[in-house]
Amino acid sequence: MGQVRVRFAPSPTGHLHVGGARTALFNYLLARQLQGVFVLRIEDTDMERSTEESVTVILESMEFLGLEWDEGPGKGGEFGPYFQSQRLDIYRKYADMLVKSGRAYECFCTPKELDEMRQAQKQRKEDLKYDGRCRHLTEEQRQEFIKQGKKSVLRFKAENEGVTVVNDLIKGKVTFDNHQLDDFVIIKSDGIPTYNFAVVIDDALMQISHVIRGEDHLSNTPKQIQIYKALDFNVPRFAHMPMILGPDKSLLSKRHGATSVTQFRDEGYLPSAMINYLALLGWSYDDAQTIFAKQELIDKFSLEKVSKNPAVFDIKKLQWMNGVYIRELEIDELYQMVLPHWQELEFLPKNPSNEQKERAKSILKSLQERIKLLSDLDDSAYYFFQDELRYNEKAVRKVLYKEGSLEILGYLLTELLAVKEFTQENLEPIFKQAQNKFERKLGDIMQPVRVAVTGTNVSPGIYDVLGLVGRAKSCQRIKNAMEMIKFHQKEV
Ligand code: GLU
Repeated sequence: MGQVRVRFAPSPTGHLHVGGARTALFNYLLARQLQGVFVLRIEDTDMERSTEESVTVILESMEFLGLEWDEGPGKGGEFGPYFQSQRLDIYRKYADMLVKSGRAYECFCTPKELDEMRQAQKQRKEDLKYDGRCRHLTEEQRQEFIKQGKKSVLRFKAENEGVTVVNDLIKGKVTFDNHQLDDFVIIKSDGIPTYNFAVVIDDALMQISHVIRGEDHLSNTPKQIQIYKALDFNVPRFAHMPMILGPDKSLLSKRHGATSVTQFRDEGYLPSAMINYLALLGWSYDDAQTIFAKQELIDKFSLEKVSKNPAVFDIKKLQWMNGVYIRELEIDELYQMVLPHWQELEFLPKNPSNEQKERAKSILKSLQERIKLLSDLDDSAYYFFQDELRYNEKAVRKVLYKEGSLEILGYLLTELLAVKEFTQENLEPIFKQAQNKFERKLGDIMQPVRVAVTGTNVSPGIYDVLGLVGRAKSCQRIKNAMEMIKFHQKEV
């Protein structure tokens, strides 16, 4: 086998979604494993739907995931340009070659004529396909149509006898009856190539050895193989990956929630977790292992182990996995990741002092075990930085308004104000004493303080919270909570 050259060929008509990201990943993994080349090609021949923003978002998403390409936008390479919109002359040249060799022809049929043809086929209960009526136009007929100002497309003269076999590296041998193929359009009347044509010219000229893409393209493959053969190009190996479904087993779509990489990024998913999770969408190493670092994926990935069956996207599993990767981060890394966002939220100033940095890191340390998404940190950290508490109503009702809470808080407030230093060693005995005094479980003593100081009943350990919030603010919040309770007691 010569050098492995694979490609990811997105159409820039929107964001990079889970399916595309997985396609990019599998291509990337194979390229890295086999010291191959990973090409990024932008398939922007749909002039109406392609946008520059979408190109930018796709590149950004690939960079976020760490799927670095070797040739393509921003990288160059000897097989460029890597935007299909800049390769129109190339497609034209190969289309002309097909015309010369008798494998393509001009078709002047109007949409109306095509429609009538289909209606008639429907009535006769025949397959709906172009009937090849322009295959044998004489030169006079051609000239006449041109004189009439009729527009033409170029159609490929498809082989419609026998079968086309795709030896798919994932699906196995798939046989297509050529009879099903019609003379499909390769160049539209505006001179723009169709996907099935441009993709072949590019994959051939870019010397792509393996075409790895979604199963939705399997049915295009026989058409493409015929074009490779008609132009005497080497046919690459094909591998079609199973589709990705939502939990309801329908094709994964926006209906199922976030599906674009940028959305996931903004919600606080780590690239490492995303890569690991995407790899498992249709691929597995064995039944046991689920956590794979990128290098491990590069070493262990193989197309043979990609499933033929659809994969189900499980957001819960991705969240869980993200939590695993968050816990593996060094505190400094986690700090660097959240810093820009925390500055935006004004948790931290533009230039935090050393003391502020250390405090932020201690806060992160106390929360690291508890979060699944970086964005969870916004809600679970704000009370360390902002004065105004957002009380969780349920927690207030269940905990603060419970009988005895006012007395517990009153007692603790006096003690907390009096204690020498606000450290874990000093705080612990105060809670123990309160426990004895009120004859309650330790949790019953801690919960009112937790709700008073954080506004909610879930937080890191209470001594950590008190230490990090500090004495003044903690005591002020306890006083506020006591006022709330008193007010409530008067009301009822
Ligand atoms: N531009 C096509 C798509 O985004 C590429 C398909 C292929 O990989 O051949 O679906």
